[in-house]
Amino acid sequence: MVKSGRLAVYDKPKAPFELKSFPIRAPRAGEVLVKIRMSTICRSDIHSYLGHRPNPCPGVLGHEIIGNIVELGSDIKRDMRGDPLQVGDRITWSEYFIPGSNYYTEVLDLPQKSPGVDKYGHMAVTTEPHHHGGFGEYCYILPQSWILKLPAELTDEEATPINCGVATVMCVTEQAEVGMGDAVVIQGLGLLGLYAAAICKARGARLVIGVDKVGARREMAARFGVDHVFDAEVKNIKELCRPEGADVVLELCGDPSVIPAGIQYLRTGGRYVLGGLVNPDAFVSIDANQILRKLLTIRGVHNYHPRHLIEALDFVHANRKRFPFHQLVDGKYKLEEVGKAMQDAADRKVLRAAIVP
Ligand SMILES: [Zn+2]
Repeated sequence: MVKSGRLAVYDKPKAPFELKSFPIRAPRAGEVLVKIRMSTICRSDIHSYLGHRPNPCPGVLGHEIIGNIVELGSDIKRDMRGDPLQVGDRITWSEYFIPGSNYYTEVLDLPQKSPGVDKYGHMAVTTEPHHHGGFGEYCYILPQSWILKLPAELTDEEATPINCGVATVMCVTEQAEVGMGDAVVIQGLGLLGLYAAAICKARGARLVIGVDKVGARREMAARFGVDHVFDAEVKNIKELCRPEGADVVLELCGDPSVIPAGIQYLRTGGRYVLGGLVNPDAFVSIDANQILRKLLTIRGVHNYHPRHLIEALDFVHANRKRFPFHQLVDGKYKLEEVGKAMQDAADRKVLRAAIVP
């Protein structure tokens, strides 16, 4: 049994990462000890590191994680699908865990918003059991998380973004009710936007339009089902989405300034879903009269329901030959290089940076 493991720790926002060792103990009831295989950098890791949203310090980041089971807590026998779990299994798990059943789980069917919900890679490293983020060698899966065994055919690159990026987009497209024949505009073609394009096509969308300032992303977009790309505003929306505009607009860029244009793209009765605005103070000025006159539906998505984790895994598994998901994780870094990986991801030099400890 290992006695300790290293974590990449930062003392305060923008401070350099330092590798530090923390003790490892046997997992308690409800916990699983995992040896991390890969952890990818999500946009919200960058926001936290830059101090754009509150995150306890000294901190350990990283919540898009996969790993192999080292030891199972006494009462953990099966994954959320009912498949038996064993030492050595390669697994993914929900990006969050909850304190137990409550009004949100029992009445509202919103376990992901339970009071006291916490997320991997969002806690102070001083909080026991220390190893609860992706940028390290080990991670404890804590009680009331949702675990899934990974099929052998999936590569680590395909599997790692499933528990945040892909599951979030599964929830966003469900909430947008993307269906047969819909015309969809996606604002932001990062990993979420490109996955959204693929999922919208799989849900039956006839047309997907993508908007992103980064040329390299627009170039990749066609491979993921995007039919037309724009670097800023879509000028001829009514020509592209005849007769009156888009059925659905998805915000997946994290920039509130795109919202007025998004509302303009929608036809009467259209749906707008916000999935990227994870920072507080995302103020924007809109003509709310448009919401009323056009009978618009606006929804927000934060975290996802556990069912979206299964849907995300099954979607990636079933469509990995149709869309080149493995190309989305396009930079690999050692644990010693977390700082460089964060910088490259923040500068959008890579689409999804992966830490391989
Ligand atoms: Zn994330």
